[in-house]
Amino acid sequence: MDKLLTFSDVELYYDNVHALKGVSLDMDEGETVALIGANGAGKSSVLRAITGLKRIRSGEIVYQGERIDAREPDEIVRMGIAMVPEGRRVFPYMSVKDNLLMGAFTRIDRTGITATLDMVLDRFPRLKERYSQAAGTMSGGEQQMLVIGRALMARPRLLLLDEPSLGLAPKLVQAIARSIVAINRDAKVSVLLVEQNSRMALRISQRAYALSTGRIALSGRSSEILNDERVRHLYLGGE
Ligand code: ATP
Repeated sequence: MDKLLTFSDVELYYDNVHALKGVSLDMDEGETVALIGANGAGKSSVLRAITGLKRIRSGEIVYQGERIDAREPDEIVRMGIAMVPEGRRVFPYMSVKDNLLMGAFTRIDRTGITATLDMVLDRFPRLKERYSQAAGTMSGGEQQMLVIGRALMARPRLLLLDEPSLGLAPKLVQAIARSIVAINRDAKVSVLLVEQNSRMALRISQRAYALSTGRIALSGRSSEILNDERVRHLYLGGE
């Protein structure tokens, strides 16, 4: 079977900063894959390369059998890839409803959009409660749910999440983690999860890659990585 996504030997630069050094990774349809590693390791660069926000210098990115590394960002969204960037950027003066509808900008099937909206509101009842409220007045956790919901409105096959737990209280991190599991399982969306909270990411993913200064330093089944003493020391603070 074809892989959902493959990176082969990807090199990415910001002027003379060599951010990705021969990165190869892959994802199967239906998987949740975690991308972990320290600040500046290159995790967000992987997501920017997939979404076309940053061009790679060499290597290949293949999605569902097609090269996407020279395509435009909107084309990539239309191919079924949606990204939730770091920092929960909602449209603060727009209602929750309108924020969600913005996520469906690539779609023209009105009945389909309504069905997806119902699915998102069922998944995040908090958004239903706040439906007409200005998004900027909501808490950090609610805004995180909103940006994930907005990405789901595009009906993606592959959802890219950049640090969804950043700055959230432990209880909310748990809630977001549960939502990611449910989206992967029920909505059959494959998830590439970038996290500095490695423990959470490893618990809810099937496989993981660890990046270290632009290279893949480690990869394998998340459960095995979680139980490996040496890895624990390196990536999980040695607990
Ligand atoms: P973080 O968790 O801090 O976002 P990261 O693992 O996602 O870290 P990247 O954002 O991918 O890391 O950055 C990888 C490297 O590229 C870092 O050395 C970073 O300083 C550098 N970098 C990222 N964006 C730019 C840019 N626009 N211009 C120059 N260098 C950049």
